[in-house]
Amino acid sequence: MQLKEIIRCIEAIAPLPLQESYDNSGLLTGHPNDEVSGALITLDVTEPVIDEAISLGFNLIIAHHPLIFKPLKKINGYSEVERCVIKAIRNNIALYAAHTNLDNTVNGVNAILCRKLGLKNTAILSPLQGNLRKLVIFVPESHAEKVRQAMFAAGAGHIGNYDSCSFNLSGSGTFRALEGTKPFVGEIGEIHTEEEVRIETVLPAWLEPRILSATRQVHPYEEVAWDSYPLTNEMSNAGAGMTGQFSSAVTEAGFVQILKEKLNTPSIRCSPFTGRRINKVSVCGGSGNFLIQDAIRAGADAFVTGELKYHDYFLAEGRILLVEAGHYETEQFTKELLYHIVKENFPTFALQISMINTNPVNYL
Ligand SMILES: [Zn+2]
Repeated sequence: MQLKEIIRCIEAIAPLPLQESYDNSGLLTGHPNDEVSGALITLDVTEPVIDEAISLGFNLIIAHHPLIFKPLKKINGYSEVERCVIKAIRNNIALYAAHTNLDNTVNGVNAILCRKLGLKNTAILSPLQGNLRKLVIFVPESHAEKVRQAMFAAGAGHIGNYDSCSFNLSGSGTFRALEGTKPFVGEIGEIHTEEEVRIETVLPAWLEPRILSATRQVHPYEEVAWDSYPLTNEMSNAGAGMTGQFSSAVTEAGFVQILKEKLNTPSIRCSPFTGRRINKVSVCGGSGNFLIQDAIRAGADAFVTGELKYHDYFLAEGRILLVEAGHYETEQFTKELLYHIVKENFPTFALQISMINTNPVNYL
């Protein structure tokens, strides 16, 4: 099996274009065409994790946090990051990270966190904007169905839980084929009028080249007429954080207890109790303080994230229960998520979750 097959199945769930601008998700060491012997899944790449992969005979580590996050100017082995890069390359170990692209997807880090906490009716808290496009293709009526199907199969036409969405308008297209062309209909040098369909559909911007190429495969014209418009619509299935609901409300003290149990942590920090019961909860695994106002606007009774700063707590103002439950703790299920994504696609591939707890925080 080639590394690129594993990458393709992860990026089908968490496309790289969904990562934040500061991030460095993707393949950090190794080549997509390399053969893979097995993969170890971890939240963080540390030296013991690389040793574990070596002892298992695996040459791929799939992590949530990218080992190389800031650019490295020298690789001498003076820091753990440098030593890990050296060790990985010397042992032909590929390092792959699915970070904020896995945070920003509807089936990602926050979806599994919600599921583990027992939250239902989930939705993205802060949907991404500026990633959608409208594509318009003009096609003769005889080929409209084929072209539509090709566009849908390549990833166009998804709106919420609906697929195959398009709008179709019939009209007349005109063209004159010039010397050197081989027109599908009409004569060279004469203006031709053809009954055509204007197919409009929506798509993620990064899929446009793939969708256009699929369209060209089945479109009969030598020159395909198409328009592409950037949209300001939000993507309902991509963005930061997630909000869900308990089937019945719990007290704030009860909620904190649930978190400690489900996240298996001895300690949780939170803002003063508001006196309200907790039903609607927003979550963001890892560092989610940038979503506090979104959670308040969403009407959440509580916002759970991995890390908050001292001054973040002042934003609660009795309107919401802010909970700081630990970075590792709120992201720990990401390992299980990555495991299932790969396992479902490649059931016989050698795959393991690392036995090493890489949480660098010590609770006393
Ligand atoms: Zn994180």
